[in-house]
Formats: sequence, structure tokens, C-alpha cells
Amino acid sequence: MTFSGDFTYESRPGRVVFRPGAAVTATPSEAERLGLRCLLVVCGSRGEAVARAVADALGDSCAGLHAEARMHVPVEDADRAVAVARAAGADGVVAVGGGSSIGLGKAIALRTGLPLIAVPSTYSGSEMTPVWGLTEGGAKRTGRDPSVQPRSVVYDPELTLSLPAALTVTSGINALAHAVEALYAPDTSPLIALMAEEGVRAMTEALPRLASDPADRAARGQALYAAWLCGSCLGSTTMGLHHKLCHALGGGFGLPHAETHTVVLPYALAYNAPAIPEALTVLKRALGTDDPPHALWDLAGRLGAPRSLAELGLQETDLARAAVQVAGQPYANPRPVTEEGVRAVLRAAHEGRRP
Ligand code: NAD
Repeated sequence: MTFSGDFTYESRPGRVVFRPGAAVTATPSEAERLGLRCLLVVCGSRGEAVARAVADALGDSCAGLHAEARMHVPVEDADRAVAVARAAGADGVVAVGGGSSIGLGKAIALRTGLPLIAVPSTYSGSEMTPVWGLTEGGAKRTGRDPSVQPRSVVYDPELTLSLPAALTVTSGINALAHAVEALYAPDTSPLIALMAEEGVRAMTEALPRLASDPADRAARGQALYAAWLCGSCLGSTTMGLHHKLCHALGGGFGLPHAETHTVVLPYALAYNAPAIPEALTVLKRALGTDDPPHALWDLAGRLGAPRSLAELGLQETDLARAAVQVAGQPYANPRPVTEEGVRAVLRAAHEGRRP
């Protein structure tokens, strides 16, 4: 990337512990470091066994286990979790699981001010951001608040061993999307470019190994390291067209989060490509290709991930409504976003044809 010497970079307070086995061995010491003695552990129903092991490791410092996290944090779930935390007299929250569990932990932090420790089990990157989301009446609201950013993040690659191959691939490509958009964000910076390039390189190297052997421990470590880098990019920059499209398709049409990111990314990148020469230079180097949008589309295909919105259940008749929604909001994007342009991106993504 050419050095422009004109940027603002805000590093956020937070601590990262990265080690196999850390969920159980490091969470209690992280809680102690923060002076917390009464923690509510939250997780989703599928992650309950792992969260219970974390709760057991906390011993007397565990105020209870609340295994009710669901996708997109419905507001009534947040209300219930806040009530549980208050009734237990919790002085902190530990979220164990994917973006949905961490999202519930953030909702508690937002309402109560309680400090959050995150123990992620996917590559969503939510643990590195001050962004919260709540869904009410079918609409998802998001916002930024420093109080929801986890004070400590415990990365344990062993937690990700149970992530099925398909979700490993789509969650990994979800992480790539953060790095890609950070490279052309209005608030990008040289440090972001370094993290994004390394994140893309490490993730795209690890995913083919994990698609053929989800139990490859070295590749699990590498993918989680990449997710940390990509999540850090997400937390420090403003996302553009790609994330707006995925937000609209997830919130308004119920499409699954990681899969939607996987399908849309090559097309959103192809749309922005004429306006982002420097970002493309970085991506070409990281991906070892002359054509980053095609390389991402090809990667998804080779690893058996979905490549069309039709496969995810979006009807052709929904495309126009989605385009109006995404083109109608003001947000930063390197190339002007027109309704016609968004419709073309969505049409191509719906068909899944080569970008
Ligand atoms: P998720 O948390 O909903 O998890 C997907 C599925 O995988 C769930 O059924 C879960 O139980 C299961 N799972 C998770 N970890 C597993 C493991 N190790 N082994 C086996 N199964 C496992 O999905 P996600 O993609 O991690 O997160 C998506 C949610 O996070 C969305 O709501 C999205 O909006 C939000 N998100 C928020 C931010 C932010 O900065 N606020 C960033 C990224 C994602």
C-alpha cells in the first residue's frame, strides 16, 4: 500500500489470551485480573457443554449458566438475560460461543454496564468490536458503544474443533469480509492494512486444510489467529456495501449470517474493484492472484460452500426490495451506491455466476 501519511487509528482497550485449552485454564485468571467474583456465563443451547466446563472452572466465581443465546439477539432474550444477571447479583458476564452468544453478552453489558469476557468458538470477530445488535419486531438495530467491547478475549482453538466443516468455511469467509472492507474503509490505516493482509493470508491458507480435516489442530490455531486479525479490522473501521447488503439480507429476509457473507463477498468486491486500487494490491498479494473477486468465489466453490443467494432461499422477487433498502441508506463506500448498481450485485449473487 502506498504510504499516505494521513490517517486516524483508534486502538481499543482490551486484552487477548490465545492458547489451546485457554477457555478453561485462562478464563478464571482473566476474571480475577478484572476483579470479578460473580460471573454469569452465557451461551447457546448447542454450546452448553463447553460453557459448563468454563462455568465449572470458575468455581465459586460462577453466578450461573444461562444457555439461551439465539441468532440476532431478540430483545426479549436480552430482557430475560439482564433479569437473570441482576437476580444472580452478577458483577460480570462471560460469553462462550459464536457471534450470537457474544451478542447476548454484549446486550447484557449494554443495559447493565457489567464487564464482558468473550470466549469465541467461531470466526465471526464480534469479540473484537464495540458493536451491539438487537432484534425487535423483525428489524435489527445495531450501535457502537465502548461498554460492550469485551475487556478480555480468551481464544482457545480447541473450542473450534467441533465447528462443522461447512460452518468452518463460511465463518472463515465471514472473517475475510471484515478484512476486505477494512482495506477500503474511510478510516483505514497502515496498521489495519497489515492486519488485513495477514488475516486474509492466514485464513485462506487454513480453510482448505480444515475443509478436508476439521480436526487439524495447527490449522484451527491459524484460522482463529486470522479471525482475531480480521475481527480487529472490523472493530476499528467502518464497513461498506458488503456489510450493508448482508445486514439487509439477514435482518430483512432471514438469511443465515456466515453463509450470506460467503455468497455476497465476491460480488460486492467486484462492484467496488474499480474504485479501490490500493486495497486490490494488498488482496492480490494476500490471495496470490490477479483477480481477488474471482479467487474468493473460486475458494468458496472449491470448499463446498454455497455460492448463490438462491441456494440460501432468497426469492428472485425479493431482489428489488433488498436493493431499495441497501441503496436507500447513507453510508461510506468507495464507489457510489446506486439502486441500479445494488440490483446488479444482488442479481449476480442470486444466480451465483462468476463475478
Ligand atoms: P452463531 O453464533 O449463531 O453460531 C452458528 C451456529 O454454530 C450455532 O448453531 C452455534 O450453536 C454453532 N456453533 C458455534 N460455535 C460452535 C462450535 N465451536 N462447534 C459447533 N457448533 C458451534 O453464528 P456466528 O456466525 O458466530 O455469529 C453470527 C451472529 O453474530 C449474527 O447475529 C451477527 O450479526 C453477529 N455478529 C456480530 C458482530 C459484531 O461486531 N457485533 C460481528 C460478527 C457477527
